Amino acid sequence: MDFEYSPQVQTLRQQLESFIDRYVLPYNSAWHRSVAQGVYPPPFMEDLKALARSEGLWNLFLPGLRDDEPGEGLSNLAYAPLAEIMGRLPWASEVFNCSAPDTGNMELLHLFATPEQNRRWLRPLLDGEMRSAFAMSEPDVASSDPTNLQTRMHHEGGQLVLQGRKWFITGAAHPNCKLLIVMCRSGDEGGDKHAQHSMVLVPMDTPGVTLVRNIAVMQHQSPEGHCEITFSNVRVPVTHLLGQEGAGFAMAQARLGPGRIHHCMRTIGQCELALTLMCERTLERQVFDKYLADFANVQEWIAESRLEIDQARLLVLRAAWRLDQEERTQSRVDVSAIKVVAARLQTRVVNRAMQVFGAMGLSPDTPLAYFWTWGRAMQLLDGPDEVHLRTVARHELDQARACRGATAAYFTLPEQLLAEPRIR
Ligand SMILES: Cc1cc2nc3c(=O)[nH]c(=O)nc-3n(C[C@H](O)[C@H](O)[C@H](O)COP(=O)(O)OP(=O)(O)OC[C@H]3O[C@@H](n4cnc5c(N)ncnc54)[C@H](O)[C@@H]3O)c2cc1C
Repeated sequence: MDFEYSPQVQTLRQQLESFIDRYVLPYNSAWHRSVAQGVYPPPFMEDLKALARSEGLWNLFLPGLRDDEPGEGLSNLAYAPLAEIMGRLPWASEVFNCSAPDTGNMELLHLFATPEQNRRWLRPLLDGEMRSAFAMSEPDVASSDPTNLQTRMHHEGGQLVLQGRKWFITGAAHPNCKLLIVMCRSGDEGGDKHAQHSMVLVPMDTPGVTLVRNIAVMQHQSPEGHCEITFSNVRVPVTHLLGQEGAGFAMAQARLGPGRIHHCMRTIGQCELALTLMCERTLERQVFDKYLADFANVQEWIAESRLEIDQARLLVLRAAWRLDQEERTQSRVDVSAIKVVAARLQTRVVNRAMQVFGAMGLSPDTPLAYFWTWGRAMQLLDGPDEVHLRTVARHELDQARACRGATAAYFTLPEQLLAEPRIR
């Protein structure tokens, strides 16, 4: 395995870093001020998007783009280090049209939309003219197990009718959010539990769609929103069904793999920034006649953080590479693994940085408090850690089952006892 970034990726990394330094970071204070005043997205966002597009830094995430679609058509492996750079500044992804959940939604539409759905929804998303959200989780059922989902869809008079309640729907409060991709129960109880759900394209302004509230995550209220939404007798034409009826689960799998890799790489970018901030702080802050950097425990925090970040990055890159190779089973397990590793990494590394910063680390004056909150949220969003650990454990156990007894020779029991494998 070659661990070097390709020449193309190295060039794009330099371009992206330089673009962010020159044009995006100088707006950071203005972005926060604007959002605090309720002006979102800030007026300069469209100019930044146009500039990024003109410099070839647009839709960097989507492999398999057609020639007539805007973007670079990078593989997951090539995009991952770029997501890391964007991740350092959480609002930066929008400048490059690489924000969640649009990236996952564009992947989904790219794979399953009809030509008419493409024209109406995918193309404006690729052009950055609108935003979208993915509505799966529900307050009334344990959404870690999506077979529980209860929002119903049925056919009536040539239309699809939706009824239900969703929550924590990221992006739905963005003023440009025009599309909800809604996961609904369309089949009868009984039968294959994984063939009873469908995805429906619901325009945000459809009568019966109500944005009830934007839910704060810990103390943080995100301007694009993690929203509770009700669907009350919502009617859309049957042509708004995405893919096959009953194929919602299979399609969700296709969407979630790359999206999770993007989340993980953005996390790694935030951890890198937290580590840099931590190191700089330890070199300038003195206690008891020594710099913080001179204390053994602080050095250990720094070293542990470096080791953990590098391990996580390698694991994420391998998952991205396997996804590109279309090693479906293995990449699914890898994606589950990195989702757990990256979320835990973020709370651990950022926690150390916060401690080094003292009280300031808990204030909004540094990005650390937000990074920690996001790391905590990562342990739940896109499936809680426990579900992903279950996927990894099941894969290990399947492998062990397939070669049961093969380890017998490693035992040093008397030979007559080894004749029959004793491992259960
Ligand atoms: C910031 C944020 C953004 C989000 N964005 C979106 C979005 O855009 N769209 C969307 O649809 N949803 C979104 N979600 C919701 C998220 O996907 C769900 O919260 C998540 O899937 C867990 O579902 P739940 O909250 O219903 O927890 P539950 O399913 O009730 O699970 C509760 C707990 O049970 C335990 N558990 C579950 N399964 C197992 C298991 N197999 N083994 C052991 N323990 C287990 C875990 O500890 C878990 O935390 C978002 C959530 C957050 C926090």
